[in-house]
Amino acid sequence: MSSPAGYFAESLRLYNQLDRIATLLRSELRDTASRHKLTLAQLQALHYLLECNRFSDTPLALAEFYGTTKGTMSATVSVLEEKGMIEKVGDERDGRVVHCRLTEAGRALAIQSFPPISLQRLMIQRVDTSALRRELDQFTDRLQQKTRLRSFGTCTSCRFFQPSESGQPPQCSVFDATLNDEDQAGICREHSPRPAKKR
Ligand code: SF4
Repeated sequence: MSSPAGYFAESLRLYNQLDRIATLLRSELRDTASRHKLTLAQLQALHYLLECNRFSDTPLALAEFYGTTKGTMSATVSVLEEKGMIEKVGDERDGRVVHCRLTEAGRALAIQSFPPISLQRLMIQRVDTSALRRELDQFTDRLQQKTRLRSFGTCTSCRFFQPSESGQPPQCSVFDATLNDEDQAGICREHSPRPAKKR
């Protein structure tokens, strides 16, 4: 793979593989969504809200995560609100910001729908995916750097994370907030990868 044609062919093969995996999983999720009278985008939004931290549950963050427009995501959020899957809550510090919080029904549906059943069945068959996941983590980091889109990582790999010190809880220097376990576990719109240490 030393020539431009080799790079092109290899990247096309990789794209085709990733696209096929995404199609297989999305097809299954689309069926799940349709059984609950939702679109795939609406079901995916519920999953994002289950995974994100409290600073990142806004329509704008949802739109950025899925690479869609704010208007399209606002429509998705409105339908989910009408269906009783989420509720909108105003931000305590900034009146222009609205948070989308899962209701009990929305949370239950998100938990039961992800991961897709086919992936769960693979795990039951004891397929070892640990090496694949490590490779994919590195691959995703590198691809994200090329696209320059937001990283949506978690606190422990973020340059704004200030770990617990002298008995004080961890802090976020962007939001000027104390971080509880749930905040740290959720993916975050403002995450910025910490630079790798020089050797
Ligand atoms: S430390 Fe980083 S990832 Fe954590 S809440 Fe702050 S900006 Fe988000």
